[in-house]
Amino acid sequence: MKITRIFAHRVELPLVEGCYRWSGGKSVSVFDSTIVGVETDTGLVGYGEVCPLGPFYLPAYAEGVRAGLRELGPHLLGFDPRELSRLNHRMDAALKGHPYVKSGIDIACWDILGKATGLPVCVLLGGRFGESVRLYRAISQESPEEMARKVSSYRAEGYTRFQLKVGGDPDLDIERIRAVRAMLLPSDRLVADANTGWTQHEAVRVVRAVRDVDVYIEQPCLTYEECLAVRRLTDHPFVLDENVDGLDMLLRAKSDLAMDVVNLKISKLGGLTKTRQARDLCVSMGIAMTLEDSWGGDITTAAIAHLAYSTPEEYRFTSTDFNSYVTVSTAIGAPQRQNGFMTTSAAPGLGVSPRFDVLGPRVVEVH
Ligand code: MG
Repeated sequence: MKITRIFAHRVELPLVEGCYRWSGGKSVSVFDSTIVGVETDTGLVGYGEVCPLGPFYLPAYAEGVRAGLRELGPHLLGFDPRELSRLNHRMDAALKGHPYVKSGIDIACWDILGKATGLPVCVLLGGRFGESVRLYRAISQESPEEMARKVSSYRAEGYTRFQLKVGGDPDLDIERIRAVRAMLLPSDRLVADANTGWTQHEAVRVVRAVRDVDVYIEQPCLTYEECLAVRRLTDHPFVLDENVDGLDMLLRAKSDLAMDVVNLKISKLGGLTKTRQARDLCVSMGIAMTLEDSWGGDITTAAIAHLAYSTPEEYRFTSTDFNSYVTVSTAIGAPQRQNGFMTTSAAPGLGVSPRFDVLGPRVVEVH
């Protein structure tokens, strides 16, 4: 089997809530997503998706996905998409870095491998653990009262895990954490994700001020060293995200005992092949994970669901259903949340078919 064509469609994903805000005044109201297709000489076509969280979250931006596909695509024509390690080796040889560009192609090739073998991607990634995947809800940065109100309303929809966007004014963040925790049951999990937004002294103040509150602290500061310093001054469970972008940082953080949970995002690591490698290493090292991506719609949500399903339940801290945050459905067959959980289709591959009428014209075409 040979890759004969790589193409992409751009699609806008407006948010149901109108806007998503996080640390440092950053916000997005319409996500710019790229749906990637990989076509083969057998007629099988696989699909992937890459959707950066705006151009200011990770070193990634939406137009960069498309430019990167035009650069990388010609190097992959003629390759067998089922040989995932070989394909990734080729991608890394042809384009240094830019993991998010490679992610959509890698996901699409897993979809092809599933369709070619008649197996769902979760089975190919290791098997299906449990009946469903528990979801968290990210809560956009607002006033403490508004965030508490939203948590209460999402809780009524079945969510039991919440990730608060903090990383703003530390005094207000302390109020946000307290106001939201007060709405929850003891068994609910709350994460305060500062998304690198606090300086070290601010982070130390916040963790001291909420010492009596049951809350996880995620990525308080910009650098790994600052996060490690805060980690050593708090007894809250600790999550690293932005700093862990590959196996070297994962091993370093494990060695330093710098985290209890790590956030693995598919496009941050460069696709399902590399995320599976990191996931398997985390399972071997006993580190629980948030398994997700930077953002996306139906295809990203399907990829997350297959990745999470194939991870032992005790190591799945949370995942999220990005397709329920946006107003546009871009594919048929994607997971749909039910009472705070999602399941995958048992169909071969990712189990999704793009809605081309929603996607509009092709913006990348390599053949
Ligand atoms: Mg995070």
